[in-house]
Amino acid sequence: MKCDPTLYRAAPPSLAVKPRLIRQLFLPPLIILLMIGLGFIGFWTSEYYGIRTLGENGERQLELHARTVESEISKYTYLPSLLELESSVSKLLAEPSPEHRQTVNEYLEGLNRRSRSRAIYVMDTTGRVMATSNWRDIDSYLGEDLSFRAYFQNAVRGQPGRFYGIGSTNGEPGYYLAHGLEERGKIIGVAVVKVRLEALEERWQRARLEAFVSDENGIIILSSDPARRLKAVRPLSDETKERLARSLQYYWATLNELQPLAREHLDAGTEKLTFPANSEVVADDQEVTYLAQTRPLNDTPWNFTLLTPLNDLRQAAINQGILVAVAFALVAFLLIAWNERRKVIATRLAAREALQEANNQLERRIAERTGDLRASNERLKAQIRERRQAEETLRRAQDELVQAGKLAAIGQMSTSIAHELNQPLAALRTLSGNTVRFLERGALDTASTNLKTINELIDRMGRITASLRSFARRGDDQGEASLAKAVDAAFQVLGSRLDNLPLTVHRGFSQAMLQIDQTRLEQILVNLIGNALDAMHAQPAPELWLESDIHEGKYRLRVRDNGHGIDPETRKHLFEPFFTTKPGEQGLGLGLTLSASLAAATGGNLAVEHPADGGTAFVLSLPLAGHQPGESI
Ligand code: ADP
Repeated sequence: MKCDPTLYRAAPPSLAVKPRLIRQLFLPPLIILLMIGLGFIGFWTSEYYGIRTLGENGERQLELHARTVESEISKYTYLPSLLELESSVSKLLAEPSPEHRQTVNEYLEGLNRRSRSRAIYVMDTTGRVMATSNWRDIDSYLGEDLSFRAYFQNAVRGQPGRFYGIGSTNGEPGYYLAHGLEERGKIIGVAVVKVRLEALEERWQRARLEAFVSDENGIIILSSDPARRLKAVRPLSDETKERLARSLQYYWATLNELQPLAREHLDAGTEKLTFPANSEVVADDQEVTYLAQTRPLNDTPWNFTLLTPLNDLRQAAINQGILVAVAFALVAFLLIAWNERRKVIATRLAAREALQEANNQLERRIAERTGDLRASNERLKAQIRERRQAEETLRRAQDELVQAGKLAAIGQMSTSIAHELNQPLAALRTLSGNTVRFLERGALDTASTNLKTINELIDRMGRITASLRSFARRGDDQGEASLAKAVDAAFQVLGSRLDNLPLTVHRGFSQAMLQIDQTRLEQILVNLIGNALDAMHAQPAPELWLESDIHEGKYRLRVRDNGHGIDPETRKHLFEPFFTTKPGEQGLGLGLTLSASLAAATGGNLAVEHPADGGTAFVLSLPLAGHQPGESI
């Protein structure tokens, strides 16, 4: 079943191609851009929340470790004030004799051992060391003038002296706690305890904690990473640098600024710092980013900073970002695949609908055309019925005509028949009278001869009447006819006319059985031969040719004469009924018409030829008996 292509409503090419082209051109870069964007958002969000969580954890760690530092420092704050209670110390300060010094030296030595501090010493109000716990050492502070030290200057004014510095004698760093020794409301000297805080650093290192403590000048005094020690956490002005250098607080250290590769302020006391990697931890070319959380240490002007590495977090955030990008790509791919599939289904549905519509239309058209066909079929049937009726009427008319022709022929022949019969009747009368006389005379031989002649005459008369009867009989279309017999019969019917004619008959035909009623064939031949005889009545040497051949499966009998022929005007009307050129009662004009219709009724035909050498030839074509139409011989 074919579908009407106009039923498919295809989009115009200009409209159908453009969106697809745009999609194909812009969709992949868009997806890649979105992937990158979402990957970044994923990375950023993960990092942000990761830092927040780390920050919260770090806050607790910061608190914990800052407290540890505070307690480590505050452990020693009471120690210098203890010396106020020691009478030997006040004695020494009041009277600096070698005995008093020795007593205090030994006392301080013992106290220092017990408190596990680095050194304990006592200074007079001028800043000279009067007694010290390390009096036995070569680099003992004894007799040294430390009046330039800030802790001394504070303490001698009655303020607590807190100071981190590097020792001027041995360059050893330490935390100095100074206290002005009072006696009766007057400062008589200063007691100092030097503490080493390296134990804190070691503890941090053991705990793999990255932290540092920066002092009031912003100088890192304690650090889990030794490389950061004595670095400034904030930029120092030249003036400050000079002041610090003069105070020898940090001995001769250069006090470079701790310069991170990147610094990002996040919150109050929270920063993101990136440092070149510590070679011990990671490879040289890498950098480490830390979350730096700072908190001031109580009772000191110092700050404690906790560094939490963010590299793992960053890696996790990168993974998260990649995951988000991949997930998005997957979702995008699934969406595209789903969309494509949806479109394919939609196209299929549309095609199916169009096909259904085409089918419906086709069926409608078929129904319409079937209706038309049925109507025209009905019309055709009616026409066929009418035509059959007309044919029937015509056939009946033809039959009537044939019959009329026969009757006419009978009438026409009746004269000659009467003449034919009168002759033998007259002869019979004469012969029978003579025979009676011969019998009376006893001339039996002559009487017998006469009787034989009478018999012959009666036979002849019987033949004449028989042929007349057969001519008049209404034949039917069925049956077979012997051509030779028909020719003989025709000559017999026309016998009386032949007697007066010096006719030469050329029987050049071959005997055949033809598919026509015997009587009808005889009637046709009587007509044709009769006409030929008429045409030759003025011919001194009349000749009749009967020839045959087979043409297109039909038997053709040619009846040719050498008569006067047919003039052109007559040729036009030959087969018309009642057309005749014969005068008076001689012609009815039915012979050829009837013969042609008899031949046609059996599937044959009758035609005329006009030979160049004169005369006329009628060609009778008839089917051979037992031969179906279309069967070749
Ligand atoms: P009819 O013999 O009664 O005239 P036909 O139908 O047999 O009627 O013939 C019609 C006419 O055809 C004849 O009148 C005659 O003029 C012409 N015709 C028929 N046969 C011949 C023939 N063999 N030669 C010349 N003329 C012929």
